Amino acid sequence: MIDPKLGNLFMMSKVSKSPSVFLDRDGVLNKDIGYVHKPSQINWIPGAKEAVALLKNQGYLVFVVTNQSGIARGLYTEDEVEYLHAWMNTELLKSGGSSIDDFRYSPYHPAFENETYANFKNWRKPAPGMILDIIEKWPVDNLKSFLIGDRQSDIKAAEAANITGFLFNGGDLLTFVEAILASR
Ligand SMILES: [Mg+2]
Repeated sequence: MIDPKLGNLFMMSKVSKSPSVFLDRDGVLNKDIGYVHKPSQINWIPGAKEAVALLKNQGYLVFVVTNQSGIARGLYTEDEVEYLHAWMNTELLKSGGSSIDDFRYSPYHPAFENETYANFKNWRKPAPGMILDIIEKWPVDNLKSFLIGDRQSDIKAAEAANITGFLFNGGDLLTFVEAILASR
C-alpha cells in the first residue's frame, strides 16, 4: 500500500533540487601521496574541512568522486576504501559539524582489466559515470553545481556530465571555494 505521506516526501525531493559540489579526493581534500587507503595516510589539504563546512552551510550537497585503481591493482580492498571514507566523515563531523553526503569511487583500471570491475569502466574519470550515478540518486541541480579536481581528467568528467569544472592547483581549499562562490 502506498503511504500518501511518503509519496509527498518523494515528490518534494524530486522537485526541490539542490546545488551540489563534486570533489575529487586525492589532491583536493587530502594530499595525493599515491594510493591513499588508510587514515594514517590522510594529510588534509589546508582549508579542506572548512571548505566542506562552508558548502554545507550554504545549502550545497557535497559529494566525493574518486578514482581508486589501487583496488584493481590489488593494493587495497573496497572495504578499506569504504572504511577510510567513513573515517573521513567522522573527522569532518568532529571539526565542523558537516560531512560528505555521498562517496563514489571507481576501482577500475584498464591495465588491470578483469570481470570483477568491468562494470565500473565508465566510472573511471575522465568518464562521467560516478557523477551521473549521483545525479540519478540525489536531487542535484546541474546548472547550479560544480566540480573541483586537481587533474584534467576531473574536469573532463565534469564536462561530460554537464557540470562546471574548476581546476585546483593546491593551496588553501577554503580560499579557492570562497572565490568560486563569490563568482556565482
Ligand atoms: Mg586528484
